[in-house]
Amino acid sequence: MGKLTRVAVFCGSSPGADPAYRAAARRLAEVLAGRGIGLVYGGANVGLMGEIARAALEHSVPVIGVIPDFLVDYEVAMTELDDLRIVGSMHERKAAVADLADGFIAMPGGLGTLEEFFEAVTWAQLRLHSKPCGLLDVNGYYARLVDFLDHAVAERFVKPAHRAAILVSHDPDTLLDQFERYEAPPSDKWIERGPGRI
Ligand code: AMP
Repeated sequence: MGKLTRVAVFCGSSPGADPAYRAAARRLAEVLAGRGIGLVYGGANVGLMGEIARAALEHSVPVIGVIPDFLVDYEVAMTELDDLRIVGSMHERKAAVADLADGFIAMPGGLGTLEEFFEAVTWAQLRLHSKPCGLLDVNGYYARLVDFLDHAVAERFVKPAHRAAILVSHDPDTLLDQFERYEAPPSDKWIERGPGRI
């Protein structure tokens, strides 16, 4: 993959129960600053989304926010951003974020975070892009999801190579090191057919 220009961070529109989640968002922003990597995210100023964007601005990280017009008031757009892009739909938001990012990180978050992250993962699986996808596993928040992914491999619904392509670390620097070394998995999702193809 090599040097990253900009990563997408998907994270909760809520702050979560543990202050460690907010601290991790601030830490990720600091690490992006140290590595000269820009941020693209959902453009809101609430929850962990707001936390990482404010910390990124404090550390002079270039930030692009992409928010659909119907969420501008509801999620309270981060109007302090130099580059806040208001788009017409969720689909446009995801397409813009996917185009702008060299990689995708999910911090702790809810259903929206999971949806956005797994769309990026499934598009990698289909080779619609070859960008790294990783979970920033703050305080074991994603441990049961990782266990479930291993279960899905054992049950032969997910190929080991596609599971392995989901990078996981509790440490943002380690995760971004993994991103820079990342090579896309082989493009064989649909090639072998029939029972036991995984
Ligand atoms: P959540 O993780 O549920 O707090 O949501 C985090 C972000 O994901 C928010 O900006 C939501 O607007 C966004 N989101 C929620 N549902 C979806 C969806 N179906 N597709 C894309 N983004 C979503």
